[in-house]
Amino acid sequence: MKKYNFYAGPAILPQEVLQQASEAALSFGNMGLSILEISHRSKEFVAVLEEARALAKELLGFGDDYEALFLQGGASSQFFMIPMNILNENEKAGYVDTGNWSAKAIKEVSHFGTQEVLASSKADNYTYIPKDFDIPNDIKYLHLTSNNTIYGTQYHAFPETNVPLVVDMSSDVFSRPVPTDKIGLLYAGAQKNMGPAGTTLVIVRKDMLGKVSRNIPTMLDYNTHINKASSFNTPPVFPIYVSLLTMRWVKAQGGVAAMELKNEEKAAILYDEIDRNPLFVGTARKEDRSLMNVTFVMNKGYESLEAEFLNRCTEEGLVGVKGYRTVGGFRASIYNAMPKEGIEKLVALMKDFADKKA
Ligand SMILES: *Cc1c(COP(=O)(O)O)cnc(C)c1O
Repeated sequence: MKKYNFYAGPAILPQEVLQQASEAALSFGNMGLSILEISHRSKEFVAVLEEARALAKELLGFGDDYEALFLQGGASSQFFMIPMNILNENEKAGYVDTGNWSAKAIKEVSHFGTQEVLASSKADNYTYIPKDFDIPNDIKYLHLTSNNTIYGTQYHAFPETNVPLVVDMSSDVFSRPVPTDKIGLLYAGAQKNMGPAGTTLVIVRKDMLGKVSRNIPTMLDYNTHINKASSFNTPPVFPIYVSLLTMRWVKAQGGVAAMELKNEEKAAILYDEIDRNPLFVGTARKEDRSLMNVTFVMNKGYESLEAEFLNRCTEEGLVGVKGYRTVGGFRASIYNAMPKEGIEKLVALMKDFADKKA
């Protein structure tokens, strides 16, 4: 049976990307070797890396003053690499606390400088995106988590500010256009909306770098990787290749603006059913609902049906619908690669479940 992967990550990839990746795992181009065994210095892989770096910038519309890197260590390593590379000890950065991933990013700043949490929705279990807070002028950058994978909230507009934005787009990169002129640095672990685990995309404006006085370890210095075209040491060849295949797929779909329209249409199918169905209720404030991770729980009085509904999902081949423990209930991750049919199948199951139980 065809199963649909609703897990938050590692997440669904386009079927044709998996097909192409599996072919390359056996024989890459006409090299007579697997992509898993070729040299990262071969001209064939250098071409992959250059195309991936260029296409990441092209899809999002970043110009020549930005560099795209494919690093290791996950998005979690960016939590410390960012202040290490950008913030002097006597300088301050602003953070907005919109979930566990924001909180983890905030925690790392104190190793290198000062952070100020400008707004937080923690007291309401991160059910909304704080807006209308003051942004001081003396901060070096403003860090935002674009999409809150766990809580199902997403910025539909970034705050207005003259301070450069540093944005964690791990779970919504390439799902929509971004205001490139406001962004100083964007990062995304591959395994949610781009590829397999093992590489992290970083797009950084070059003038953000080279301004701190500390000695940065070679591997943790963005400039090391910029100067060596993202190949200072052995890069994660296969995750980068699969990410490139996904980016080519996004481009073929019409790019990130077309992706956003599809994502809006897909998310609406599920949110409409959550709002209509008496058994279920959404957990995120409506205006901040994520197009990528849809969080919902059993409505009051129906809580005891949660396990049964999850079992039905699994039986129907809809896997990974269980919510994160701090939210409970359900989370349907409907990234770029989730076909509309997968969502329609989930909605049909919700309707059928309500017909039998409500
Ligand atoms: C998953 C996730 C991370 C952590 O990514 P790793 O690559 O596992 O370190 C960071 N931020 C967000 C928004 C995430 O969804």
